[in-house]
Amino acid sequence: MRLKLFWQFGLAFLGLLLAVLLAVDIFAARTLRRDYLRDAFDQLAALGKVAQARPPQLDDPTALRSWVAWLAQGGARITVISADGRVLADSAHDPEAMENHAGRPEIRQALASGEGRSVRHSDTLDRDLVYLALRQQPAGGQAVVLRLALPLKRIDEALAEIRWRLAGASLVILLVAGTIALGVSRAFSARVRRLEAFSRRVADGDFRPLPLERRGDELTALTRSLNETAARLDQTIRTLTDERNRSAAILRSMVEGVAVISAEERILFCNEAFARILGLQAGKSEGRRLVEVTRQAELLGVVKQVLAGREGVRSWLVMGTVRPRSFAVTAAPIAAAGANAGTEATAGAVLVLHDISELRRLERVRRDFVANVSHEFKTPLTAIQGFAETLLAGALEDQENRPRFLEIISEHARRLGRLTDDLLKLAQIEAEQMELDFRAVSVAELIEGCVETTRLRAEQKQLTLAAECPDGLPAVGGDRARLAEVLQNLLDNAVQYTPAGGRVTLRARAAEREVIITVSDTGIGIPQADQERIFERFYRVDAARSREVGGTGLGLSIAKHIVEAHGGRIWVESTVGQGSDFHFSIPAMSPSSEVFRA
Ligand code: ADP
Repeated sequence: MRLKLFWQFGLAFLGLLLAVLLAVDIFAARTLRRDYLRDAFDQLAALGKVAQARPPQLDDPTALRSWVAWLAQGGARITVISADGRVLADSAHDPEAMENHAGRPEIRQALASGEGRSVRHSDTLDRDLVYLALRQQPAGGQAVVLRLALPLKRIDEALAEIRWRLAGASLVILLVAGTIALGVSRAFSARVRRLEAFSRRVADGDFRPLPLERRGDELTALTRSLNETAARLDQTIRTLTDERNRSAAILRSMVEGVAVISAEERILFCNEAFARILGLQAGKSEGRRLVEVTRQAELLGVVKQVLAGREGVRSWLVMGTVRPRSFAVTAAPIAAAGANAGTEATAGAVLVLHDISELRRLERVRRDFVANVSHEFKTPLTAIQGFAETLLAGALEDQENRPRFLEIISEHARRLGRLTDDLLKLAQIEAEQMELDFRAVSVAELIEGCVETTRLRAEQKQLTLAAECPDGLPAVGGDRARLAEVLQNLLDNAVQYTPAGGRVTLRARAAEREVIITVSDTGIGIPQADQERIFERFYRVDAARSREVGGTGLGLSIAKHIVEAHGGRIWVESTVGQGSDFHFSIPAMSPSSEVFRA
């Protein structure tokens, strides 16, 4: 590019210089010739006057020849020609050898008007001459023409000299101006190259501005405007990148699966949640057809409807067979860019998959709960109602059965009371209204208290009750009464579900940052399938038996809530026919703090 610019500048300059030189040459030649001719004619005219003042002797050839020689001393060539064109005398040539001159223009002019001028080539002398011809009329004789001539050579010499000087000056000008032009064009093309490199740098994403030159010309203005453009581009790209990062972060952190589907039903974008839900490889599904990655007819149907122009289609689908999960599907069309309102062109669809499995489960739990509660209340209420009506119908008089009936009514009323107590407790816990009085609780004391309460019942059932609590156990942080409730519940269950002659053991051990308390029995055990569910509300392995012994099916559920409210865990290990081990852990009291958790 540098070369191109240089040549462009150089040729333009050279062309200009040549044009100027040519003009100067033509002008100088013309002026010089004009001036020279005027001078030459003036000179010849002066000489002519001298000749006319002393006219020649025409009839004496010798006298005429010497007169011509005398006049030629004035520097001009002198010729005397008769009216019929014959050369009578010539200062530069032998008149005998000269041809007839009647046809020469200056001669004809002079014969016609007295004076003739011409500038032409002389055949006789073979050179260019300036001629002045004057008619001379001697008294009583034939008219002759006196012709004076000066060579043009001097003009040519002067012109040649001027041309040489001009050429010399031009060479100097060419050298000086060429050097200057080279320097200017070099500097110019360097500046242009700098701008070119800058624009390439901007295209590559480097937006640092170019330092401004002190010159205030167009290139500086261009630099300034390029700098502004780069700064604006930088700002726009930053804003766009920020926005994109923000959207990407939002989409990434969303638990909902989001996907953008093209009008050709290809996945243009999907977030990780979407890929996870459909079991796709994250980041590798873009560009694939939806029908290739999923067989979900429901999902495909929804997309088709939206692409056909339907607004906000909703549906739901179930994914997975082993652990089925339910999803609500919402799909909305993306208006095609440039589509006018009213036209139905859709550029694609946005799909949102929302996991509603938990919602569904909670709905089911709530439904089951209501059914369970009604069921639990129904038995005692039916019994109370039945026996009360029997009493009213006359059994009140029946001295023998009356106490038994009343006893039954009272027993069922107590059961109702226990049920409502447990339900209230559960409701409180679940509403997170349970107030825990956190303190340091000694595990040994906790175990001792519960063992004391249970000892009598264990003895009645002929069970061996033992407690193994090592010394130096750390205190746990928690609500003493609530923790006692948990332990008591586990102990009661152990006694309850262990046949006579069995053994119930309480153990406590310190683990990392927590204390684990275990209640083991040698009782009936819990089938594997039920082990996970016994902590659910109202779940009982043998509902009839539990009810018979006054159980509500809520004990373990309440225990689980209390333990979790303390930041611990509860779990069971059990073998049917051999016994069960119920464990629960409570975080140990941190030695540095008085109150573990507020
Ligand atoms: P319940 O009032 O029926 O005892 P829980 O919530 O305390 O209610 O217990 C739920 C169910 O777990 C019981 O009905 C019983 O089937 C089973 N279960 C609890 N503890 C034991 C145990 N130690 N041995 C065998 N089964 C148990």
